[in-house]
Amino acid sequence: MNFNFTQEQELLRSATRNFVDKEIMPYIEEWDREGQSDPAIYSKLAELGLMGVCIPEQYGGSGMDYNSLAIVCEELERGDTTFRTAVSVHIGLNSMTLLQWGTEEQKQKYLTPQASGEKIGAFGLTEPGAGSDVAAMQTTAKKDGDHYILNGQKTWISLCDVADHFLVFAYTGEQSEKHKAISAFIVERTWEGFSSKAIKGKHGIRAGNTGELFFEDVKVPKENLLGEEGEGFKIAMAALDNGRFTVAAGAVGQIMACLEASVSYCHERKTFGKEIGRHQLVQQMIAKMEAGYQMSRLLVYRAGELKNEGKRNTRETSLAKWQACDFANQAADDAFQIHGAYGYSDQYPVSRFLRNSKAPVIYEGTREIHTIMQAEYVLGYKEDKPLSKTLPAWQEETIASLTNK
Ligand SMILES: Cc1cc2nc3c(=O)[nH]c(=O)nc-3n(C[C@H](O)[C@H](O)[C@H](O)COP(=O)(O)OP(=O)(O)OC[C@H]3O[C@@H](n4cnc5c(N)ncnc54)[C@H](O)[C@@H]3O)c2cc1C
Repeated sequence: MNFNFTQEQELLRSATRNFVDKEIMPYIEEWDREGQSDPAIYSKLAELGLMGVCIPEQYGGSGMDYNSLAIVCEELERGDTTFRTAVSVHIGLNSMTLLQWGTEEQKQKYLTPQASGEKIGAFGLTEPGAGSDVAAMQTTAKKDGDHYILNGQKTWISLCDVADHFLVFAYTGEQSEKHKAISAFIVERTWEGFSSKAIKGKHGIRAGNTGELFFEDVKVPKENLLGEEGEGFKIAMAALDNGRFTVAAGAVGQIMACLEASVSYCHERKTFGKEIGRHQLVQQMIAKMEAGYQMSRLLVYRAGELKNEGKRNTRETSLAKWQACDFANQAADDAFQIHGAYGYSDQYPVSRFLRNSKAPVIYEGTREIHTIMQAEYVLGYKEDKPLSKTLPAWQEETIASLTNK
């Protein structure tokens, strides 16, 4: 077991932190109020190599390990959940899924421009009537010669108006066959019959773009089927192993931001003749944040290490995602409480933290779904069977070649 970060990982953390301090922090309150952000952020992240941080160099990425992705997510969410969410869908849910399941042609055509940040990827699983219950989806893809004809609707899709490529899940078989009849497709925004629309009035992640996708007789070439027909549900779940990892890492960054804001306010604000940090009940909230921060980090980096070794990590990632997001939601609530009435205004960032901390408890498996998963693993009702394609283990020599440059 090794609990130390490498020199490259430390450099990556400080580069991401500097980026957040310079490019996000000064503007985020305004973006959050206006419900938008500067789209140039993504090209700036790409310039730093962060849009493909853990994608191998041969596919246009930076070739760093999976825990380096966690570091980027932590630091981005310290700035705002919006930008970590974008990286979660672009890298975790989309690019890593292409890396795991794509053919060489698909990797060249879609993964490579995504890893360099030239194109943005997103993930369309949820529908108006199908969230946790994925098999309740209504979207269909009917085979027609060299194409599939895609019809249906997705909702709550992050980067719906921003992304160039979408992974879309649809029934290619009978709905009565449930999970076994779902397939995955790579869909381009520019294709006829595709449209998207943002959801307005969101509770949090207001600087980010989330909304609906519509498919009206979209012609998807058969080469854009990802994996085999009927493998879509497995692909979606494998994608979530990576997406959830990034959400968990982001939650660590959210707790970090709550701690920073709270510690500063504890020294600034005085009641009954002393700093509020001297009151034991305030200390209890700080202590809980610290405990949540340290425990979540360990869970995240353990899951990342399993990914680096090429080992199945569904169980560990689910635990990390569930616990880290719950801790972050609690930390944001406590940070708000520590700020008293001032937490209620946008003079301090904590009300934004509290609003932002709610979505991660819902997306990529709700708190309840992860609770059930963990209980079922322990009770022996659930076990993970080998998949036909695995996420490539991280090769140490990749980093060696990077440092020799
Ligand atoms: C900001 C944001 C961004 C998102 N981005 C994306 C995206 O990019 N791509 C995408 O595909 N989706 C995305 N989602 C959708 C998200 O993944 C779903 O909201 C999530 O899977 C839950 O589905 P649902 O909202 O339909 O809730 P439901 O599944 O309807 O659940 C409602 C409630 O019932 C509980 N529940 C459901 N089933 C059970 C059960 N078996 N046992 C106990 N309790 C249960 C749930 O935990 C929840 O509390 C996003 C959501 C948000 C809020």
